[in-house]
Amino acid sequence: MMTFDTIERARGRWHEILPLFGIETRFLVKRHGPCPLCRGRDRFRFDDKDGSGSYYCNQCGPGSGILLIRKLRGWDHKTACDEVDKIIGNGLPPAPPKCKPNSAASRTAAIQRLLNEARHPDVVAAYLRRRGLGVISHVLQGHWRCPYYDEDGKFLGTFPAVIAPILGPDGSLQSVQRIYCAELDPRKKILPPVDTIVGGAVRLFEPTDELGIAEGVETALAAHQMFGIPVWAALSENGLKTRQQTGNRENVGQSRPNRPPKDREECADAATSSAQ
Ligand SMILES: [Zn+2]
Repeated sequence: MMTFDTIERARGRWHEILPLFGIETRFLVKRHGPCPLCRGRDRFRFDDKDGSGSYYCNQCGPGSGILLIRKLRGWDHKTACDEVDKIIGNGLPPAPPKCKPNSAASRTAAIQRLLNEARHPDVVAAYLRRRGLGVISHVLQGHWRCPYYDEDGKFLGTFPAVIAPILGPDGSLQSVQRIYCAELDPRKKILPPVDTIVGGAVRLFEPTDELGIAEGVETALAAHQMFGIPVWAALSENGLKTRQQTGNRENVGQSRPNRPPKDREECADAATSSAQ
């Protein structure tokens, strides 16, 4: 009875569950690729039939999500179910929000709630490791079960995600970027900002006499790793331009005048793409 419940509750959530047992999302695709069990190079396929986590390997044979965990960890069925329960809990999936956030107060509350829930630094560490990054920023938070809604507001499930707070030029919390650690499109989403994220940034490191500005969080971390200077992520090309313009004209808020980061960005882009 208990084990049956686990399987039912885990249905449709294997993209969230399996990476937490060390099966990276690159294995969880519907085309032939490497097998996480026997390490064969091109014999594994994750088809996730009816959300069961089903797979097929020409060497290991067919199975479901729970069997994949059992084989990987050498667990019996009950142990595997108990471990899955620790992740997904035994409650129901979170209810989708009843209405779109429509006031600054409700948007602030939604942003704050997500940050409060993000208490799993191991999600951040695993994510950075996968991206080949050896640096960490304490502003990044890990969320184990971050809800994902598609463009039509349909709830697709909860997934591990890195939560990056976005501060406005005056240092006020404006939004958060959610970087989902799963095969989702788009994989990065920004919550509706309190006011605006124009000129905003993820302030990954305390500025010194130097401050680099990059577009994305990964690029900023790669640049920090490469050059050893504090780097912020302005999140969009638009934000980047806005920041550079305002940065050149005046000292905006707590930020300091920036050196033109062009060369650093390009190097960092190259570093990130080669790390992928
Ligand atoms: Zn195999």
